[in-house]
Amino acid sequence: MDTDVIVVGAGPVGLFLAAELELAGADTLVLERRETPSEESKARGLGALATEALRRRGLGDQLAEADVEGTKELARDHGSTLGHFASIHKIAPDPGRPRTNIWQPELERVLAKHAEGVRVLRGHEVTTLQSDVDGVTVTAGGREWRAKYLVGCDGGRSTVRKLAGFAFPGTPALLHTIAGRVRFAGEVPPGGRYATGAFMYGGSMAGVTEPAGPERDEPLTPDELSAAIRRVTGADVVVEEVRDGRRFGDQARQAATYRLGRVFLAGDAAHVHSPSGGQGLNLGIPDAANLGWKLGAVLRGDKPEAFLDTYTHERHPAGEAVLRNTRAQSALLAPGPHVDALREIVAELMDLPEANRYFADLLSGTGHRYDFPYPAPKPVGEHCPDLGLVHDDGRESTLFEHTRTGRGLLLTTGHPGDSRVDVIPVTNTGPLLLRPDGVIAWAGEGSLDIALDTWF
Ligand SMILES: Cc1cc2nc3c(=O)[nH]c(=O)nc-3n(C[C@H](O)[C@H](O)[C@H](O)COP(=O)(O)OP(=O)(O)OC[C@H]3O[C@@H](n4cnc5c(N)ncnc54)[C@H](O)[C@@H]3O)c2cc1C
Repeated sequence: MDTDVIVVGAGPVGLFLAAELELAGADTLVLERRETPSEESKARGLGALATEALRRRGLGDQLAEADVEGTKELARDHGSTLGHFASIHKIAPDPGRPRTNIWQPELERVLAKHAEGVRVLRGHEVTTLQSDVDGVTVTAGGREWRAKYLVGCDGGRSTVRKLAGFAFPGTPALLHTIAGRVRFAGEVPPGGRYATGAFMYGGSMAGVTEPAGPERDEPLTPDELSAAIRRVTGADVVVEEVRDGRRFGDQARQAATYRLGRVFLAGDAAHVHSPSGGQGLNLGIPDAANLGWKLGAVLRGDKPEAFLDTYTHERHPAGEAVLRNTRAQSALLAPGPHVDALREIVAELMDLPEANRYFADLLSGTGHRYDFPYPAPKPVGEHCPDLGLVHDDGRESTLFEHTRTGRGLLLTTGHPGDSRVDVIPVTNTGPLLLRPDGVIAWAGEGSLDIALDTWF
């Protein structure tokens, strides 16, 4: 064996997973196709669950710093920093579960530094894969590499997914968008919905969404974007320059299982959907947080192999929930007067505080709860936000100051202790058992022993 775990892909999910695996004591090797990190401006925002996953590991300061500039830019480009559902910008922020406005290349720099201790081999494209009962062998960079487990974090067109034979069911694209940073010559028509599509324009960004046609791969040109804007708005527009050109659709698919034997999928390799609402990394980073400590526990011999099935059991429904809401957003983004009417009604609903909260929970993922193998009422199965803690000696701290080690935590008073988790005596919260991925495993009701035995 060359290593315990091979991670294929050094995108944000692969880098974060690699750091989680090392924290859990697993020897890890990352194989990345690209010679240099991508500068593609895809994601510009991290949802609450992804933000919390990174803050749990001590990256809060870097995120907060990037968020200052990111929030200013967002206001400039969208005219609002409110969250949106299908481009209806009305969702109020939740101060207890903040998101982060950070561009993806900057995020990848933060994560590359975070994963500094892990061996990352760039210019190593995985082209073959064979899995057997003892391990997985891949070819990359002109030689074979073998590990006990392999995780494909190689993006939406995942080679690992295809080579390992994962089924990838879902729905084809309804809408297609082309966009980029542009320079116009002359007048620019107003952004908004038109009879046959939508024209987005704000800051230096411009884009067009229309019903999906045949897929294209070639770089976006000023002529193609000019023609699309003219088609949709009817205005005689000339785009002189396009930078950061991108094309994306809203196909919604996910792997039927996230695990086949010793091969796993995480991030876009496991699920693809429209970027509407900025949820890709809010799924992918929690995938990595969920899988890293579990692989570590099995590799150390603390848990049996079957423990790894909880990864699909917990994360697949989370993926399904995002596929569902992005399909709904696509329906609301389609052109036409019937959809205009539906959008008006949804926008009115979003003015109701309870409905606004509903949309906020839907997009942040904080409303999603894992199904555990023992009965337990809410908040068990949910991700725990950062909490202010008062210790039994009067000291104060925050929960995320105690989560950097990646160990389980038991917040309680008067517990004799358990070597499997760190026990923190606190006086201001009810008792809580937290898994290394920040998920609440026990909250005072039911058996603590069953919860400890299930996860540790
Ligand atoms: C326009 C747009 C806007 C978006 N906005 C947001 C947003 O605001 N918020 C949000 O959360 N998400 C957003 N997303 C989605 C987000 O960008 C993705 O969810 C994210 O990139 C997924 O990360 P990943 O690490 O899973 O995959 P990727 O970022 O695709 O990384 C995969 C890595 O694997 C490497 N790789 C591929 N094949 C191989 C191979 N065979 N061998 C070795 N390496 C390989 C690639 O080079 C790459 O480095 C947006 C997407 C788009 C297109």
